[in-house]
Amino acid sequence: MSGQRTPVLIAGGGLVGLTAALVLRHHDVDVTLLERRSTTSPQPKARRFHVRSMEVFRELGLAGLVHEAAKDLAGHDHMATGRTLAEAEQLPLWQPSGDGPEVEVSPEPPCLIAQDVLEPVLRKAAVEAGARVRFDTEMLGFDEDADGVTAKLHGEEIRARYLIAADGARSGIREALGITRSGRGAVGEPSVNVYFHADLADVVRGREFNLCRLTHPDAGGALASVDGRRRWVFMAAGGETDRDWPAVLRTALGVPVPDLEILSVLGWQAEMLVADRYSAGRVHLVGDAAHVMPPFAASGANTGIADVHNLGWKLAAVLRGEAAPGLLDSYDAERRPAGWFVADESTRRADTFLTGEEDPTLAHPYVLAAGGFQYRAGALVPDGSTEPTIDFAPAGRVGTRIPHRWLDDARTRSTLDLAGPEWTVTEFDGDRLLLRPDHVVAWRGSSAQGAEAVRARLLAGVSS
Ligand SMILES: Cc1cc2nc3c(=O)[nH]c(=O)nc-3n(C[C@H](O)[C@H](O)[C@H](O)COP(=O)(O)OP(=O)(O)OC[C@H]3O[C@@H](n4cnc5c(N)ncnc54)[C@H](O)[C@@H]3O)c2cc1C
Repeated sequence: MSGQRTPVLIAGGGLVGLTAALVLRHHDVDVTLLERRSTTSPQPKARRFHVRSMEVFRELGLAGLVHEAAKDLAGHDHMATGRTLAEAEQLPLWQPSGDGPEVEVSPEPPCLIAQDVLEPVLRKAAVEAGARVRFDTEMLGFDEDADGVTAKLHGEEIRARYLIAADGARSGIREALGITRSGRGAVGEPSVNVYFHADLADVVRGREFNLCRLTHPDAGGALASVDGRRRWVFMAAGGETDRDWPAVLRTALGVPVPDLEILSVLGWQAEMLVADRYSAGRVHLVGDAAHVMPPFAASGANTGIADVHNLGWKLAAVLRGEAAPGLLDSYDAERRPAGWFVADESTRRADTFLTGEEDPTLAHPYVLAAGGFQYRAGALVPDGSTEPTIDFAPAGRVGTRIPHRWLDDARTRSTLDLAGPEWTVTEFDGDRLLLRPDHVVAWRGSSAQGAEAVRARLLAGVSS
């Protein structure tokens, strides 16, 4: 068997695996990605990418490309509701409730873009960045020893120093490692997503929406815009996949749809499950392999992007010999609590959606959307604050991403641009902040020497 060698092997070329490849190339790490499918996702799936994910794409030099690819849905961020689509009315633009931040939250706006539009952009960018991206290639199994991982493919083996499991919710790698998952399991009833084509551009013109709730007693559900014109997903409660979908859709839409074409009918169940370990030896779980959550906070893919942004710089530092392998322990210490937090928030948002009851203990939406979750332990020096905050209060606390402030009058450079791929020390509200390559505040203090000593300690693998 031939034996290709690569520092990092990524199993899974979905959205998270492709982003992992891009983050590693950004840190100048050679990487090979294996994807068993021949194409990127044929399903639109995720459509909302929060500002924090766009900040990651900004660092990778991709935010402009992603916004450009997303232009079909620009201006479609409204919700709408009605008995049928024909009768639906646009609702006022959603704003986070509660005390909103008084400052601009991010240098990047959020982005509505269907996953099947985004993944080809990421795949092309990963190839152009020098990643070895191999579709039509399944990883069949792997062995791990003290020095690395040997992956088995059809007629071939690949030797890697580290393996990233980006192989989705049913992760074979997670199962092979015997890593269990905890959480509430199934949330709510099973649902069905019907992905269809129909030219509805004239029907929705002037009342464009991201999601439209339809209340017809025989055809209730929600209609999601994929391109705002021809591509749509109808989501219905109940696990019945073999209904007469053309008839249901005609009722739900309330307009003649002579060109209606159903592309797929997908039964799915919202679940909340988080892996009990994110790392085992030289293998690290990311994305849906590590956590699944109901889609109500639109956070599954976004959380996966944050996973690989966190893991990427740590793997790069270890592979370059700048950091001890112990630094990698902080991946689980930071990202597993973050995964729990987002999965729990998503689940409780699903509860409020299903019951109509408010939950005052939910975090401010920007905590999810803008990196407001605070790491309490990991590659950082805790600042002594005892309670994690569920209010969005971007104050430069240790363990959160640096608050955004424009650095120039032309509003082109943000504090977010100060770090990544390098570490940096900056001044903020009179203090010095040590920023990690993932824009997270690792330490807050008064002296530059203090910052350098902390950086050296964290790279040596001495985590809190
Ligand atoms: C209806 C729906 C709506 C959603 N909406 C949102 C949203 O608005 N926002 C959001 O953030 N998230 C949303 N999500 C969740 C989001 O789609 C997932 O979190 C995201 O796809 C996870 O990406 P991933 O790369 O981890 O996994 P996947 O997308 O599942 O990719 C895993 C890949 O690994 C490949 N693979 C598996 N095993 C192997 C192997 N042995 N060898 C090679 N390749 C392998 C698979 O073929 C697959 O391509 C939604 C999900 C659904 C179902």
